[in-house]
Amino acid sequence: MDGKPEEQILVDIGNEELNPHDNTRRDFVANVSHELRTPLAIVKGFAETLDDSYEELSGKKRREFIGKIRKNSDRLCSLVEDLLHLAELESPSHELRLEPGSLSVVVRTVADRLGERLDLNTQRIRLELAEERKPISFDPLKVECVIENLLSNALRYARDSSVITIRTIFDEDPKVIRCEVQDDGCGIPEKDVPHLFERFYRVDKGRSRESGGTGLGLSIVKHIVELHGGAVSVRSELGEGTIFSFSLPCGS
Ligand code: ADP
Repeated sequence: MDGKPEEQILVDIGNEELNPHDNTRRDFVANVSHELRTPLAIVKGFAETLDDSYEELSGKKRREFIGKIRKNSDRLCSLVEDLLHLAELESPSHELRLEPGSLSVVVRTVADRLGERLDLNTQRIRLELAEERKPISFDPLKVECVIENLLSNALRYARDSSVITIRTIFDEDPKVIRCEVQDDGCGIPEKDVPHLFERFYRVDKGRSRESGGTGLGLSIVKHIVELHGGAVSVRSELGEGTIFSFSLPCGS
């Protein structure tokens, strides 16, 4: 047995032969390691260069290297935050903090917050909100996170988009309130659409990383919506734009 604990051998055999969940977990661990490796290598490399050659470097070069360390450590922080958020959502003991509220209020809060950073000459946010006669039960912080993810994606990826519309609609059968975030940007190729809610799936990897994306936003969105008993969907047409939507049950 060359000193290997028996328990570990059993786990190894299980992995190879019959545990599909372990394959998923193994892929996930491989993806996470891959995502962490590049920014870590950049931080390490530039920190070492600064340490080894500080005196020889010009002030401009030092600032450039410090900027790269900063940007990549921000990337690492976002990645770890999103991973922890996903882990929290997936935990069996996780509970939503449901309370009666208004989806319109949450939409307005997020639109106001992100709207402040907009260049109004090129992009604007339009709200088309249905009248909510009765309170809806949802976790306001989590739903805020959903809307923030969808709206910031629209602002980030649909750069050629001029108007982003957030609308809410009541559906009767089943009784849900649907929230759509529509952009008139570049759209998403058909082959990518079915994979958008998968962890780490990106249509344009360079653009996502450059703009600080982690590739986890839409999987967090899907988790939160499904925890509420709702569903997510997406429709997109190249050159026309994209509509991401989610629904929340709103009782009788
Ligand atoms: P990321 O952190 O990369 O933004 P997401 O899970 O939020 O990760 O999104 C996954 C990918 O979906 C993005 O990298 C981008 O390629 C694509 N995407 C999301 N929203 C849009 C949009 N409104 N228009 C075009 N592409 C989008």
